[in-house]
Amino acid sequence: MIGVHLRSSASIRGLILVLLFGVLASWRFDPAFAASIAIDVGHYFEKPGVISARGVTEFEYNLRLSRELAASLQKAGHKTLLIGDDGLADNLGRRSPRAAGMDLFISVHHDSVQPRFLSVWEPEGEQLLYSDRFSGYSLFVSRLHAHTGASLRCASAIGAAMRRAGFTPSRYHADPIVGENRPFADEENGVHYFDNLAVLKTAGIPALLFEAGVLVNREEELRMRDPAVRKRIVDAITTAVGVCLQ
Ligand SMILES: [Zn+2]
Repeated sequence: MIGVHLRSSASIRGLILVLLFGVLASWRFDPAFAASIAIDVGHYFEKPGVISARGVTEFEYNLRLSRELAASLQKAGHKTLLIGDDGLADNLGRRSPRAAGMDLFISVHHDSVQPRFLSVWEPEGEQLLYSDRFSGYSLFVSRLHAHTGASLRCASAIGAAMRRAGFTPSRYHADPIVGENRPFADEENGVHYFDNLAVLKTAGIPALLFEAGVLVNREEELRMRDPAVRKRIVDAITTAVGVCLQ
């Protein structure tokens, strides 16, 4: 009996060792890739950015999308830092330095168009400005810091994931006549160079600015209000970040 007992203890010990090795091996060879990502909420209470076709501030849209993006990235195992979510970050140059040591800085915005394209409408008796001429997302990177290559890699990956998710780049910013003549860095995926953007050029880490959609476009504003559309956006960014930073 003693011999049998010893053998079974030995085999139990062996089994435990095999299980332990299995757990360690799966941990060692199949790690959940974890990065640290700073999410900058574009604008602040005092200067809230674009006023949408229905009179809502861009800051409100930026804050909601930034929070949803942070939750999505955390769920994927990443560490996140929200910058400017208190609505008080009025010094743009102080935003990206807060992300020092992190892997990526994403500034979240929503877009407008040149003032000359805006018309007046009165959705609920209030006079507001709109333009249905342009729609779509845009991405920007700066060439005035040390990480242009890595920034562009992530911006392109996000643009590609957005296209796969059914979104279209606006292309508006590259147009010398109707836009601002911001040259394409990656035309297919809707990425432009915008060298002098304060939040980008002051970043000591890879950095990009994301315009989710055009808020003065009446239909696009409704899309940006749709939780299912926003989920497709944050899913696309989360997937892209997992790829470009690995
Ligand atoms: Zn903005």
